[in-house]
This record gives sequence, structure tokens and C-alpha cells, in this order.
Amino acid sequence: MTTIEQWINGASYAGEPADRMPVENPATGENIAELLIASDADLDHAVEVARKAQKAWAKTSMAKRTAIMYKMRELVLEHQDEIAKAIVAEHGKDYSDAIGEIQRGRETLDFACGVNAQLKGEYSFDVSTGVDIHTIRQPVGVVAGICPFNFPAMVPMWMHPIALISGNAFILKPATPAPSASLIIARLYQEAGLPDGLFNVVAGEKDLVTSILTHPGIDAISFVGSTPVARIIQKTATEHGKRVQALGGANNHAIVMPDADLEFAGKHISSAAFGAAGERCMALPIVVAVGGIADELVKNVISHANDIKVGPGLEEGVQMGPVISADAKKRIVGLVDDAEAGGAKVVLDGRNLVIEGHENGHFIGPTIVRNVDMDSALYREEIFGPVLVIVEADTYEEAIEIVNAQPFGNGSAIFTNDGGVARRFQMEVEAGMVGINVPIPTPVAYYSFGGWKDSLLGDHHIHGPEGLRFYTRAKAITSRWPTESGAYEATMSFKRED
Ligand code: NAD
Repeated sequence: MTTIEQWINGASYAGEPADRMPVENPATGENIAELLIASDADLDHAVEVARKAQKAWAKTSMAKRTAIMYKMRELVLEHQDEIAKAIVAEHGKDYSDAIGEIQRGRETLDFACGVNAQLKGEYSFDVSTGVDIHTIRQPVGVVAGICPFNFPAMVPMWMHPIALISGNAFILKPATPAPSASLIIARLYQEAGLPDGLFNVVAGEKDLVTSILTHPGIDAISFVGSTPVARIIQKTATEHGKRVQALGGANNHAIVMPDADLEFAGKHISSAAFGAAGERCMALPIVVAVGGIADELVKNVISHANDIKVGPGLEEGVQMGPVISADAKKRIVGLVDDAEAGGAKVVLDGRNLVIEGHENGHFIGPTIVRNVDMDSALYREEIFGPVLVIVEADTYEEAIEIVNAQPFGNGSAIFTNDGGVARRFQMEVEAGMVGINVPIPTPVAYYSFGGWKDSLLGDHHIHGPEGLRFYTRAKAITSRWPTESGAYEATMSFKRED
């Protein structure tokens, strides 16, 4: 069985592991690798080399840094099949979805390649007699990224290209169920010419994260994961004097208005609810059907959901893989069971799906539930599985109240053909990312990504311009060059003698 080590100072690093954990293939239920869990000594080593490398990197020209990013972009393209297969094996998502996440992640590399234009400062001449002021942005130092399991390549790529191009060193803590994509990325950075020590990978869970959050050699933390953990991250990291951005969980709602194209809405809701087995922070688990259209909408969603081929991610034609673990499956099925026991109606039931030849895989088929009690855990909690809940409202006003009453505010969408309602929705909805006839409104990488309310702790969204601000500090320089000192004459005489 393969052993997965840390990556420190430009090489695979066994170090002094604190523990070992199995890495499972969720489509088969079999353990496929053993992951070494980094000890505090391993983390200290990573921080030490990162701090040293960062000092030189901060003085490396933008031209050189940019050339490395261009090379990295090429290498990620060249190796996307290898990265995608590692994701499928450990996460379970289907191959085309894995390629999709690499492409979305690579957009941040594209952004990083052109970032110099955005790192320009400001200059004001003669703000006082003979006095000028200008601003620059400098790197924060050593940055750590703590990542969730559901996008093993894309979420870290929201962070490291921007952290690195702006002069920081980066320590990545991937999620333990799917660590291999991060190690491929580490190898590719080295191939791209990134100096050793600037990109390190350390694997672990709560204990290692606590050591990262309290480590005096780490200056900033980017976190993406669930809200309860985001709260711990933000509190502990800020108490230890670190800059922190913590993106949390979600419970995204879409409103479907009676004037919407219900065939279009049905197709897109099916893919937003069930794609990646619902394991996306921008997945769509709740639809609010307005004005008596629920029956027709559900019929349309079911007809598309029935076409989804569920199975192991590398099999031809598969569009949806298993969920991440047996525990996740138990939790998701349990949420649906409990709602049903409370009177909900399961109108499409994927709970008992078994895939031939993969009987131990953690598969759940697309599931749709109606008549759900809005106090039930199925409605209130983040499901993070292929389950769609349909609730109903009589009017737009009632629907937007339902959407805004929930504590999360990651993404939200409306399906309508009425520009006035769409315009009103974009102003009134309490969410960081809004879709109009777009159910998963994930911004491209040159915009920033982030939610409101319980979906984001800290004040910076991730990647794009806000990512760049997060990984840099502003400096304002006020300068004066008095000639009275005789400095000018001294220079002239030096030149003459020379
Ligand atoms: P998670 O919160 O369980 O884990 C995220 C990271 O935190 C992992 O690296 C994990 O090792 C670490 N961690 C877990 N428990 C910890 C603890 N008690 N103390 C310190 N560290 C801990 O999330 P997950 O299950 O890996 O990923 C799914 C979650 O991530 C969902 O809630 C999803 O919505 C969210 N997510 C959010 C976004 C976003 O952009 N807002 C994007 C992707 C995923």
C-alpha cells in the first residue's frame, strides 16, 4: 500500500509522524493508501524552511515570480489527468467533475499570472511642500491554508497562487480523506522552478490545525470548511495575532417564480442539487417553488435526475460518484429518514441505491423530499449529499423571507423571466453570491468568492482582488528630499571624483 508523506522544502518528507491514517476509495470502501500525520516537529520544520525561503522570495522580482506562475499553469494543464485520477480515487467524484474543478482552480493561476497590474500602488506628488506619498503592498509572510475534502485541487488553488505571487510562503493542510492532489501540485511547483521551502504540505487533523493556528511563525490563515470549524479557526487564529479568513458551510436556496421556464429550471436544479453528489458548498439543496408550480417543477427535476448515471468516477458515462464515507452516507440517509418519520414525502428515493460490483461503496442516488417541516434537521442543517428539498411559497415576498431567515448566506439563485423581480432579488437577498437563472453562481477567479452570515467569518472573500488584499499588507511612504542638507552637492562631487 502507498505511503503518503508530507512535502517540505521541495521534497517528500517522512519526518517524525504523529500518527498514520488510512485513505479510502469511497467507491469501493477499500483502503488505498496510508497517510502520515505530521507531528509538531514536522510543522516546525515546515515553518522554519518557509520563513527562510519567504525572505528571499519577497525580494525576487515580479518578472521572475510571474514566469514561475506561467510555467505552473502549463504544468497543471499538462498533468490534469493525473490530478483528476487522484481526486477520483480518494474523493469519489466522477472524472469530468474532477477535471472541472482543476480547470476552475487553474483560473486562479491565470489571475496570478496577470496580477502585477493589481499590485500597483498609488502616488501623490507635493502633498505638502516638497513632500510626496506613495503606497505599496507587501507580503504578509508565511500563510497557511486549511482545506476541506470536497475540492481537493480547486479550494487550495483559490489560495496558493495568489499567496505565492504576492511574495508569501505557503503551508497547505489538505483534508485527510483526499491529500494526494496537493502533493502532485507540490511536485509541479518544484518543476515550475518555485524555490524550495515556499510551498509545503502537512497532513493532519484537529491537533495539527491547532498547532498551525497557534504557531508564532505563521502570519495568516485561509480556511475553507464547515461553519463550526470556521468559528474555532477564526477565534483561535485571531487570539494568536493572525490575519484570518474562514469560509464556512452553506444551505443554499433558490426561488423558482411561476413565470420561469420550468423545463430549463428543472434541468439546472437537477444538476445543481445532485452534481458532485451534493458535496459542494455551492450545491443547491433547497428550492422554494412560488405560486403553485411545485408539481410541474418536481416532475421536470425528476425526469433529469433519472438520467444521472451514478457509479465509480472513472467509469464511462458516470455523472455522479459516492459520498465521501460510510459515516457521511449514514448521516445523510438519517436526515431523510427522520424528516420522513416527521411527515415529509420522499418523491424520489436514492437511499437504498446499490451499484453492482461496488456494493461497499458509499453511494446514494438523487433524492427529492417534499412537505418538509422547516424545523427539521433536513431543512435546517447543511445536507452535503444528493438530496433536494422542495418548499413552497405563495408569493415572492414570502419566498425571500424564507431564504433570508436561514443563518447561512453563501449562494442564492432565482429562476424567473421577469427582470424587475430578478433586480429586486439581487438587492434583497442576504447572500454573498447571487445567481439569476444560474443555480450555482460561483464567480470566476478574477472576482472574489465568499458568502455572508454564517458562511464567512472574517471580512475577506477568497481569491480575486480580495484574496490579493488578504495576502498583502499596505504600506504608505511619505518622502521628502531636502537639497538644503547638501546631499545633492555631495552626490555631484562623488560623481566627479568617480
Ligand atoms: P470540515 O470543517 O470538517 O474540515 C475542514 C478542515 O478543517 C479539514 O482540513 C479538517 O481536517 C479540519 N478540521 C476538521 N475538524 C476540525 C477541528 N475540530 N479543529 C480544527 N480543524 C478541524 O469540512 P469538510 O467536511 O472537510 O468539508 C465540507 C464543508 O466545507 C462543508 O460544510 C462545506 O460547505 C464547506 N465548504 C465551504 C466552502 C466555501 O467556500 N464556503 C467551499 C468548500 C467546502
